[in-house]
Amino acid sequence: MIVVKNVRILGGEPADLRIDQGVIAEIGQGLSGGEEIDGGGAVALPGLVDLHTHLREPGREDAETVQTGTRSAARGGYTAVHAMANTSPVADTAGVVEQVWRLGREFGHCDVHPVGAVTVGLEGRQLAELGAMADSAARVRVFSDDGRCVDDAVLMRRALEYVKAFDGVVAQHAQEPRLTEGAQMNEGVVSGRLGLTGWPAVAEEAIIARDCLLAAHVGSRLHVCHVSTAGSVEILRWAKSKGWDVTAEVTPHHLLLTDDLVEDSPVGAYNPIYKVNPPLRTRADVEALRAALADGTIDIVATDHAPHPVEDKETEWSAAAMGMVGLETALSVVQEAMVETGLLDWAGVAQRMSVVPARIGRLTGQGQPLEEGAPANITLYDPSARTVVDPSAFASKSRNTPYEGMTLPGRVVATFLRGRPTVLEGKLV
Ligand SMILES: [Zn+2]
Repeated sequence: MIVVKNVRILGGEPADLRIDQGVIAEIGQGLSGGEEIDGGGAVALPGLVDLHTHLREPGREDAETVQTGTRSAARGGYTAVHAMANTSPVADTAGVVEQVWRLGREFGHCDVHPVGAVTVGLEGRQLAELGAMADSAARVRVFSDDGRCVDDAVLMRRALEYVKAFDGVVAQHAQEPRLTEGAQMNEGVVSGRLGLTGWPAVAEEAIIARDCLLAAHVGSRLHVCHVSTAGSVEILRWAKSKGWDVTAEVTPHHLLLTDDLVEDSPVGAYNPIYKVNPPLRTRADVEALRAALADGTIDIVATDHAPHPVEDKETEWSAAAMGMVGLETALSVVQEAMVETGLLDWAGVAQRMSVVPARIGRLTGQGQPLEEGAPANITLYDPSARTVVDPSAFASKSRNTPYEGMTLPGRVVATFLRGRPTVLEGKLV
C-alpha cells in the first residue's frame, strides 16, 4: 500500500491518495499508513496515453527499443503508448503485433498497444490481415500505415469498412504522395527563399477531406494523425459539424515550432533537427492548431515520438531522416503552448493527453478519471518547475530533440502504472 500525500487532482484542492492493489483505494485528507510519498503539491493527472509512438523494435534497435522507448514514455508521464507499425518487419500480421505486445509485457515501463499496418508491408497495394491482428493477443484496434499515406481511395474505403467489424479505427498519415515528391519542408515563403522543395498544405488537406467523406460514406471511424495546417482544421470542423465519427491529433512540436527555424534558429540554418513529417508550418498554422485543440476540433495531443540515431540526423538537410523524439518533453511543451497561454486548464490537458486517446484506442483501464476504485495510473507533475532540456539525460536511445538547451516549464515528478511507481522524484524506478 502507498499513500501519496499532498497532490492536487487536475490542479484542484490538495488531497492524499491511498493506492492499494493497483487501484486508487481512497482519496481524502490526512491519510497515512504504508509507504508514504510526498507529492509536494504536484498536479495529479490520469496517466498519459500516447496514440502515436515509434518504438522502432523490431528492426531499428539502434534507434529505440520497446524497453528504452517505454522508459522514455514513463519519464514523460505516460502509462500507455501505441506502437506504430512501420517497423522491420512491418507489423502487418498477427505474429508481429503479438511479438511487439509480448515485448511490451516483458520489458515495458508502460503498457504497449501495437498498431497494425493497414496494407501489407505498408506498400499500399493489398489490405493486411486486419481481422487476424484484431483477434490476436494484442487485440489491435488502431490501424495505420503511418510514415506513409493510404493514398488509394479504394483501399482506404475497404479498410474503413473492414475495421467496423471489431470497432477499430484507421489512423491516416495524410500526405498526397505526388504533391509531396522530394518535399523537404513546408511550402511557403521560407522554402522559396531557401530553394528547398516544398510540402504544400493542400497535400494534407486533400487527403483529410477525402477520408472524412469516405468515413462518412461507409459509416466508419477515422482518426487523422499529426494535423499540421489551418486548412486541415477547417475541414475537420466541417466534418465534425456533420456528426461524422472523425478524430484528430496534433503533435507538441506543431503547437510550438514554425518553419522559419529552418532558415534561422539558435542551432543555425538548415539544421535537420527541425526536419519532420509533416513539416513545421507557419505561425498562423500554429495559432489555428492551438485554437482547434482548445475548442475540441482537434481531439488529442499525440507525440509522433520518432527516434533516429545521430548518423541519420546529423547530416546534410536533404539526406537527414525526418522526425523528432517527443515523449519526455510533451507535457512541458503542451504546458508552454496551451496552459501558459490560458487556452487549457489541467482538466483539459487530462482529456486531451489521457482520457480521449485511451477512448480512441478503445483501451480499458487507461485514461480513467482519478477517483476511488479507478486503476492507479497516475502522473504527478510540477508545473512550477523550470527545466533546461538536456538530451543526454533522456531515457530514449535517441537524442533528436529540437528543444535542446531550451528552458521549458514543468517537470514530471512521478508516474504510477497500476499502483507501481515507474518514475519517482523525476527518476526511473
Ligand atoms: Zn506520420
